[in-house]
Amino acid sequence: MRRITIVGAGQAGLHLGIGLVQQGYEVTILSNRTPEQLRDGTVLSSQSMYDMALSLERELGIDFWEDNSPKYRAAAMSIANSAGEVMCEWEGLMDKPGQSIDQRVKMPVWMAHFEKLGGKLVYVDADIDTLEDYATSSDLLLVASGKGAIGQMFERDPSKCVFDKPMRILALTYVEPMKPRNGPPAISININPGIGELVTFPGLTLSGECDIFTIECVPGGPMDCWDDVKTPQQHLETSERLLREFFPREAERIDGNLKLTDDRGILRGRITPTIRKPIGKLPSGALVFGLADAIALNDPLTGQGSNNASKCAKIYLDSILERGGKPFDAEWMQQTFDVFWDYARWPTQYTNQVLVPPQPHILDIFKAAGRNPQIGYLMANSFNDPKSIAPWYYDATAAQDFLASMAAAA
Ligand SMILES: Cc1cc2nc3c(=O)[nH]c(=O)nc-3n(C[C@H](O)[C@H](O)[C@H](O)COP(=O)(O)OP(=O)(O)OC[C@H]3O[C@@H](n4cnc5c(N)ncnc54)[C@H](O)[C@@H]3O)c2cc1C
Repeated sequence: MRRITIVGAGQAGLHLGIGLVQQGYEVTILSNRTPEQLRDGTVLSSQSMYDMALSLERELGIDFWEDNSPKYRAAAMSIANSAGEVMCEWEGLMDKPGQSIDQRVKMPVWMAHFEKLGGKLVYVDADIDTLEDYATSSDLLLVASGKGAIGQMFERDPSKCVFDKPMRILALTYVEPMKPRNGPPAISININPGIGELVTFPGLTLSGECDIFTIECVPGGPMDCWDDVKTPQQHLETSERLLREFFPREAERIDGNLKLTDDRGILRGRITPTIRKPIGKLPSGALVFGLADAIALNDPLTGQGSNNASKCAKIYLDSILERGGKPFDAEWMQQTFDVFWDYARWPTQYTNQVLVPPQPHILDIFKAAGRNPQIGYLMANSFNDPKSIAPWYYDATAAQDFLASMAAAA
């Protein structure tokens, strides 16, 4: 039986680990947090996920929240001026719904399931010595440590990185359900150029249904005001003030005052979008293979990271199974990563493109999507698969051709 060790019990590590134990592999996952610490800790993400990724969870039988979580079938985007007045907007229906399950709910359940299937969980904050130990006893050692520092063992790949500093200050908040928006439940992204964005959708948290919103603040801009925020109540008050000032239409959904789902339903931070080389070498010369956020970390603005993690886990799972009894060498690792990157470069570009002021062709597409429901539909479904709107969303000339053909067909 082949032995696989994975560092990190998050979206990617557990997905891959469960897939492998189901196939009879001897799998150990190293986690620096116990299920109790995860459940009792602060929120980690807003983890909006869409059908392609969710169907991979269904495939493994780990879609435990399919019937009891709030769903959203629509996506909406608006661009405002600095006063918050909407300049252009679109809305479209997704073919299949999206959902968001608080990782404090999801990961402990997946950890228990992994152990029930025969997987081994070891609680350790893995460092290089730990990796050396497990490299000796494993046929393959993977690192799925998300934003964890151990991921820095993978070299940054400058050819794939667009930014070298955080482009946003993130403020994530879980609140008790707000008034429903006009229209169907949706992932709604409100862009306020030069100031930042508000991303909202419903989710399932420890106490039940909630609304989750992330305020993405441009550093140095008027929403860069978090330095003195210390308590959960201050976080909530600052969030509510920013909503009312810069996203007045979404603020109309506040019924009385916003209420946190719990004092740990908040998170603040900054992410430098970073793509790393997928193969790390330990001092002994042993190879370590990175996956998901550990090697392809994007800003959460377009809600792609958990989806990427799930898709990466699936690609790696298939590649490990196909490898049979042959060694997991550097060539195999690079080929496996290349398959992932062939997809992941699209969500990476999809996200990076909205971290800078919107290019004219993007504005043209958003305006056209507001007039033409077919374009709104394609945009809505791009959350599920950012590659599906290539090349026209990513290239000014292709965008002109696409918009001309859509206008001619209308
Ligand atoms: C504010 C915010 C909002 C987000 N919203 C969305 C969204 O709406 N949709 C979406 O798709 N994505 C979103 N994401 C991104 C998403 O959460 C991540 O991309 C996803 O969780 C990555 O999965 P992963 O398995 O790579 O890492 P993680 O899920 O982060 O798991 C890594 C695990 O490894 C553990 N670990 C780290 N270092 C070590 C170590 N040395 N030893 C042992 N264990 C270790 C960590 O504790 C963690 O449990 C958001 C992220 C943030 C910050």
